[in-house]
Amino acid sequence: MRKFNLIYIGFISILLLFITYFYLNIGKYEQQVKDNIKQVIFKNTSYFIDNIIEMIDNEVKGDLYSVLKNNEKLRKELEKRMEILINPSFKYVYMLYRDKEGKYRYLLDGSKDDKGLFDEKFDVNKEEWDKVYDTKKPTVIFQNNFSGLWVTTLKPYIQNNRVVGVVAMDFSTTLLGYLSKTLEPLKNLFFYIFIAAIFLFSVILYQIILQLRTKKESVTDPLTGAYNRVFLREFVKKINYYSYDVAMIDLDHFKKVNDNYGHKAGDYILQGFVKIVKSSLRQKDVLIRFGGEEFLLFLHRDKNKQSKAKEVLERIRKKIEEYDFKFDGEDIKSTISIGLVTDIYTYRDIQEVIKKADERLYIAKHSGRNRVVYKEQISNSTNRLSISQIKSAIDENRILCQYQPIVEVDSKKVVKFEALIRLIDKDGKIIYPNSFIDTIENTNIYRDMTKKLLSIVFEKIKESNTSVSMNLNLSDIVDNAIYETIYNEIKMHKNLANFLTLELLEYELLDSEILYDRLKTIKEYGVKIALDDFGSGYSNFAIFKTLPIDILKIDGGLIKNIHELEISHKVVEAITFLAYNLELEVVAEFVHNKEVLDKISELNIKYAQGFYLGKPS
Ligand code: GH3
Ligand code: MG
Ligand code: MG
Repeated sequence: MRKFNLIYIGFISILLLFITYFYLNIGKYEQQVKDNIKQVIFKNTSYFIDNIIEMIDNEVKGDLYSVLKNNEKLRKELEKRMEILINPSFKYVYMLYRDKEGKYRYLLDGSKDDKGLFDEKFDVNKEEWDKVYDTKKPTVIFQNNFSGLWVTTLKPYIQNNRVVGVVAMDFSTTLLGYLSKTLEPLKNLFFYIFIAAIFLFSVILYQIILQLRTKKESVTDPLTGAYNRVFLREFVKKINYYSYDVAMIDLDHFKKVNDNYGHKAGDYILQGFVKIVKSSLRQKDVLIRFGGEEFLLFLHRDKNKQSKAKEVLERIRKKIEEYDFKFDGEDIKSTISIGLVTDIYTYRDIQEVIKKADERLYIAKHSGRNRVVYKEQISNSTNRLSISQIKSAIDENRILCQYQPIVEVDSKKVVKFEALIRLIDKDGKIIYPNSFIDTIENTNIYRDMTKKLLSIVFEKIKESNTSVSMNLNLSDIVDNAIYETIYNEIKMHKNLANFLTLELLEYELLDSEILYDRLKTIKEYGVKIALDDFGSGYSNFAIFKTLPIDILKIDGGLIKNIHELEISHKVVEAITFLAYNLELEVVAEFVHNKEVLDKISELNIKYAQGFYLGKPS
């Protein structure tokens, strides 16, 4: 659209230039023609005057004035000869002198009309006439009047090196008027085209300005002046986002600000926040209002320079923390949490980058807010959490659910995600299950955590309609509270069951009727049952008899070296054979490279998961 406009305006500008050029030059050409005509008139007139002067020279011997005053006959004779020159173009031919008072009076007049008498005063353009007297040189007076052009040619008559009279001849012509008249329509035409072009030009310019303005409005958030998501869509298409660090910023406990001080105060803080952030940004940085009180910040990274994003964001965080938002006589304090991604090139697309920033923001939120999180700090497995640490993490919702894709081997399509639970400790470190699951086994804390995880997974399914597989112990199914959470949910949202798979762990044979009945019941709603880690620990074939199973997940310990260890290969082959005989689906875990994937494919295993196919995120 914008490009089109530029072409448009370029075209009109050139047109306008052309028209202006022609318009201005028409006047110039007209002037040139007029000048030429004047030249010709002057030449002809001077020729006649020269003849008159020569004639007077021949007839007058002695002082001109005295001779003419005293010899009326000569005067008459000379005037008669001058009269010969009179015609429709040359209307007046006469000779004047300057008296002692500087007035001009007639010496001779050859004109037919308005004839002047000897010594009679005549009002002339004194300045021009004086010039002839003083310089002794001829001159021409041009005069445009209603009837056309008048050209008066003046030539001095000199005696004893003194000007004693001036011969004048008036030439009148309508030729120039005629020329002007002929040119007039053409000039007018060009004038109107010129005006029209200027008008067109202005209209287009106005349109463009209008368009740019509405464009700006459509990409700007009216409350804060930051960009909006419409802009984001365009922006990520246009930029090479590799040259940016991306941060997700969210105001902490913003709901409380609204609740305590009112929505207007909330708006005011949002505006103030944007102002403060913008004042810390450079030209190329871009701030986008991503959601209510959530902002996406693209910080431009200079080539070959280390990212300064962390420092910049830390500065912004501090500024906000220290700032007093004064509203309605109240000093309102606010803080922000920030998730930052600087290693952008490791992500597939901008959506993943944003997701990562959001994840880190989440971690920042759950590790106490008012902080910048720029990487996941991973605790090692020996670093077990104490039971109270786990409890407070769960109570404070410092639960993170990561999802790892399960892929159809042939098509490489993601068909499902396995939900993996993590906790976040007070410092924002991600804690993996091996650091806390054992500790809380058979406690209420475990039950609370499982229920929270279930609700996270249910939410995820509802909002994204994707299949999710989640891990449970057999004992969880037997647990009334957990079972009822599942049962009530799928009963209420029937559609949800079709997207849910339960992966059962620790399947030491629980010969329990309750277990079987319950699994059967939820299966009838459409939930799929998978056996996790099959082929390790206490894998027991009797389980196929005891539990209504749909899917078998082969343990990673067998899969991971299937490409180099023959025994693994054989065992996996046998398990696959068994599974297919029992009409179960098979998923291979721990597919960490291409060789493993190729083997899986050879063995006709339909589904796989592992780092090679997608990490949990
Ligand atoms: P957290 O620290 O976890 O981010 O807590 P929070 O309360 O900030 O987050 P939550 O997402 O629960 O609440 C966000 C609130 O922001 C809720 C919503 O009413 C408010 N909000 C969103 N947009 C606007 C807005 O334009 N103006 C005002 N005043 N409030 C807004
Ligand atoms: Mg918030
Ligand atoms: Mg929020």
